[in-house]
Amino acid sequence: MEYLATEIPRSRKTIMKKRFLLLLLISLVAAVPAIAQQPLDALVDREIAQLVSTYKMLHASPELSHYEEKTSAFLATQLRALGFTVTERVGKYERTDLIAYGVVAVLKNGNGPTVWVRTDLDGLPVEEKTGVPYASKVKTRNEAGQEVSVMHACGHDVHITSMIGTAKMLAALKDQWHGTLVIIGQPAEETVTGARAMLADGLYTRFPRPDFILALHDSADAEAGKITYVPGYAMASSTSVDVVVRGLGGHGSKPEATKDPVVIAAQIILALQTIISRENSPLDPAVVTIGSIHGGTKRNIIPDEVVLQLTIRTYKEEVRRHILTAIERIAKGIAAGAGVPDERAPILKVIESESAPSLYNDPQLTERVTAAIGRAIGADNVVKVPPMMASEDFGRLSLDHQIPAVMFWLGAIEPSKVEASRKSGKPLPSLHSSLFGPLPEPTLRTGVKAMTSAVLELMKK
Ligand SMILES: [Zn+2]
Ligand SMILES: [Zn+2]
Repeated sequence: MEYLATEIPRSRKTIMKKRFLLLLLISLVAAVPAIAQQPLDALVDREIAQLVSTYKMLHASPELSHYEEKTSAFLATQLRALGFTVTERVGKYERTDLIAYGVVAVLKNGNGPTVWVRTDLDGLPVEEKTGVPYASKVKTRNEAGQEVSVMHACGHDVHITSMIGTAKMLAALKDQWHGTLVIIGQPAEETVTGARAMLADGLYTRFPRPDFILALHDSADAEAGKITYVPGYAMASSTSVDVVVRGLGGHGSKPEATKDPVVIAAQIILALQTIISRENSPLDPAVVTIGSIHGGTKRNIIPDEVVLQLTIRTYKEEVRRHILTAIERIAKGIAAGAGVPDERAPILKVIESESAPSLYNDPQLTERVTAAIGRAIGADNVVKVPPMMASEDFGRLSLDHQIPAVMFWLGAIEPSKVEASRKSGKPLPSLHSSLFGPLPEPTLRTGVKAMTSAVLELMKK
């Protein structure tokens, strides 16, 4: 899930490099085994200990969005060792000072469908407090020069490891499927800039265009061993908007000589609440949140402007467009009503680089994939859940529903903790919490089995 902030890591621990190298050596030795006919369970049994080690290494070595250099190189090397043709540094950010660490790995296996599987790569500026032995102690510097801790608090290390496991299974089971398998490591999910950057770098022209796209995300609510899913709209679009309310400043004792943007901003904030309550259909979920208001310097000065920062969440694109139009209309109308001249009318800025489309899980594909997962892990362990208004940039890869895509949730929590939370009503640590601690073995086992059976369903002979 997304985290909108910009951080720059500066120093890297040599211990991290050593861990990567050690894991790399171990995995090269164990790669591409001749185990083609064994059933999936036995294959997972065989690989699980090493996958857990990989997970713990990745967990201890998180990197911030835009700086996934070591993580992407590790994924690339793993996939290369399994026979994939790997291209690194795929992606172009709007900020030209940043390198995009996107990984695209292609495994051709005769004629057949092209299926893409995506993992994200980045960690978060969070100080880990789980107390697990493999907890991250990584620190780096942000753009302001402050030291920040880094943690895989959204569990993208679970995703990377699950994709490595899936790649191992599918490389070993090549006689059971045909077509082109593409695994991508997407950087900068938390800033919702990575999918956009990869598409801007010719993702679907340089590499075989997908017929289907799959992803998983760990869930902080569901038990390890379970898969949960949402057909249709699953996560909301996220649009970042600034409204600059301009007035005419002056002395606080002489309001008659000014147009006070603080009062105008206050009226706009309240009036914007009526977009959801009075203009939007109650059947179309949407959120307008004003998360920041800044203006003025001193009690007795009426400032020239006030800046509001908003996040808009919707499922449907037409709802998103209507809300943006309504924000502008209301802001301008209130300013005009207060006597602000046209040339000082409020300015609406939509920050596309910090926005993500909604996640729409193609209903037919979702049904097909979750049925296959149910056959692999037990139908009782595959559970439909409600959608949410949080956001992900995975949806961008489907090019506005043109390419069928599905992201399902991977339960990651110790079952006794989920049970205790249900009984007590005390919520579990959420994704992005310093206390979010997936239970590695059963989570990875389920992630690998689920994704492998989903791909096999789409590519079976
Ligand atoms: Zn996240
Ligand atoms: Zn996430």
